[in-house]
Amino acid sequence: MTSIHETTVSSELDPANPFAAPSTLPYELPDFSAIREEHYEPAVVAGMAAHRAEVEAIATNPEPATVENTLEALERAGQLLGRATTAFYNQLPSDSTPGLEDIQERLAPQLAAHQDAILMDARLHARVQTLADAAAAGTLTLEPDTAHLLEKLMTQFKRSGIALSEADQARLRALNSRITSLQAGFGRKLLAGANEASVLVTDEAELAGLSSGAKAGARAAAEARGQEGWLLEMQLFTHQSVLASLEDAGLRARIQEASRTRGATGGDNDTREVLLELARLRAEHAQLLGYEHHAAYVAADATAGTTAAVNEMLARLAPAAVANARREARELATVSGASADEVGSVAAADWSHLSEAVRKERFNLDDAALRPYLELERVVHDGVFKAAGLLFGLSFTERHDLPGYHPDVRVFEVFDAPDPGEPNTGLGLFLADWYTRESKRGGAWMDSLVHQNHLLGQKPVVVNNLNIVKPPAGEPTLLVWDEVTTLFHEFGHALHGLLSDVRYPSQSGTSVPRDFVEYPSQVNEMWSWEPQILRSFAVHHATGEPMPADWVDTMLASRIWGEGFATTEYLAAALLDQAWHQLAPSDVPTSVDDVLPFEAAALAAAGVDLDAVPPRYRTTYFNHIFGGGYSAGYYSYIWSEVLDADTVEWYAENGGLTRENGEAFRRKLLARGGSQDPLASFEDLRGRPAEIGPLLERRGLV
Ligand SMILES: [Zn+2]
Repeated sequence: MTSIHETTVSSELDPANPFAAPSTLPYELPDFSAIREEHYEPAVVAGMAAHRAEVEAIATNPEPATVENTLEALERAGQLLGRATTAFYNQLPSDSTPGLEDIQERLAPQLAAHQDAILMDARLHARVQTLADAAAAGTLTLEPDTAHLLEKLMTQFKRSGIALSEADQARLRALNSRITSLQAGFGRKLLAGANEASVLVTDEAELAGLSSGAKAGARAAAEARGQEGWLLEMQLFTHQSVLASLEDAGLRARIQEASRTRGATGGDNDTREVLLELARLRAEHAQLLGYEHHAAYVAADATAGTTAAVNEMLARLAPAAVANARREARELATVSGASADEVGSVAAADWSHLSEAVRKERFNLDDAALRPYLELERVVHDGVFKAAGLLFGLSFTERHDLPGYHPDVRVFEVFDAPDPGEPNTGLGLFLADWYTRESKRGGAWMDSLVHQNHLLGQKPVVVNNLNIVKPPAGEPTLLVWDEVTTLFHEFGHALHGLLSDVRYPSQSGTSVPRDFVEYPSQVNEMWSWEPQILRSFAVHHATGEPMPADWVDTMLASRIWGEGFATTEYLAAALLDQAWHQLAPSDVPTSVDDVLPFEAAALAAAGVDLDAVPPRYRTTYFNHIFGGGYSAGYYSYIWSEVLDADTVEWYAENGGLTRENGEAFRRKLLARGGSQDPLASFEDLRGRPAEIGPLLERRGLV
């Protein structure tokens, strides 16, 4: 075992470094007016050294282990490191520079090793084990949040491999390193394979139906590669979005074929060998740590708990989704003039083209007409903030005096409803970074700069990032409906952080398993549709006229169209993920020729083998599970959505948008963060375990 004292790092931090002491700004908001790129690395390095010294003191404490001198002490440790890394990992995706990327590349392996060293410290493990034994024997009584903290810590130790023999630990390290490099290799092959699969069109007539913007993009893509014509590049998923608009059936079929065969065409970019080795090594890694297979290893640390629970949920959803996809296929077949007898009469390549035709005919609404009614400031103040006010009693005041990390960042102080006769004290800060820029990665997300906790007396500072295009100066920011939903969604994560009311920093707000973290944010999306809220924010920015009521009805009705297809392709991918990761090492196929037959058998066994609705990702280009960190976890999205839909129903059963309901959701769920099993929080709120009925209904699958 390596000692955590083997390396010596300069632990001296210049006191002038803004991370050297806690920020003196309100809520310990990092002082972005003082923080420069060159401050991060020395602060993180010194932070690791300080943390190591603190952990060493805990591990070598001559006193017997207590909650205070071990668990609490660990929670208090690492504050300098925490200050520097939270600010750094907030800025990296949001306002990156080549310098920050370099720092990240240097720091990432050091931080991983730092974390490993703590979890592989046998002395520390022994102290924590003593507490766990005493708790199990009943000689130590723990508060529920402390018991949960202890249990999670023991799980982390177990998963680090600390209990293994030296030989097994060596094998575990080798597996970890090989798995990391295989994942990176899968990603590289996939990217190269996607380029190879791009479809070149030389006859402009074939592009009929494509928008002029998309056409110009395809032209530029061809030029960039020195080719004549138009190059249609591949998106990650099977079903390429360009299929919806292209009118030429021959071209659609070529694109579909190029998409679905990625990674299985032989040659350098074939991913089958890599993914087979990955599946085998992950299975071995899981068994080494005492789990049946990789999926069990992943589920054990999630709210699902077991793969049986995941399998059961997927199995209950699949038949309803497939039945609905078949119904949609029959409707599409009718539109296309073909026989309406069977799903087979619609080709996968034609599906979205026909579906789009139906959508246009039934739900004639376009973004351009909606946008003037969806102005950012109104959506935020009269929508997002208003809902939070009515539900939780929150109010928001912009703080122009507090600096963000970029000129576009807006800082709001959040206030709780004051108790009668008490002053209106602040709850935390909400930073909004809504606009896109070159230094920001795509997508939308929430981050925390300060995690609420009572142990250190810290209040929350949270950030929302979106990628809305910034209008010219002086013009209003007009949104599309998707962006409105995203604002509500990300603010749902922000509320999880802001309304956290826990003792321990590691249990704060969104510190919950991956299959739970999307749940509160999905729930918050419901308020964008709530009539009282929608009427309040959907007002024409120039005329002040409300959005026509029948448009709202049409928008609501159009949500369900296409859900059979969408749910089925998603479930097929989630089931494939489970199939590959519920194998013992010796059950993983050994030949690349077995990959596609394995996939076909898995889809057939789960009853989701529809030719017209292929999986959202097929095995050979399933980057979430073979290239990234979602292995055996792709089910999480719909797992969270089951909880979400059931909660939307709970609100409806109890009178919807009321202060009382908001209070219950806040106290029983949001405030608890990761201080107890999150499903227990859900059941406390709902009064029973989650049911899938509301999700089926929402997606029109009943
Ligand atoms: Zn989210």
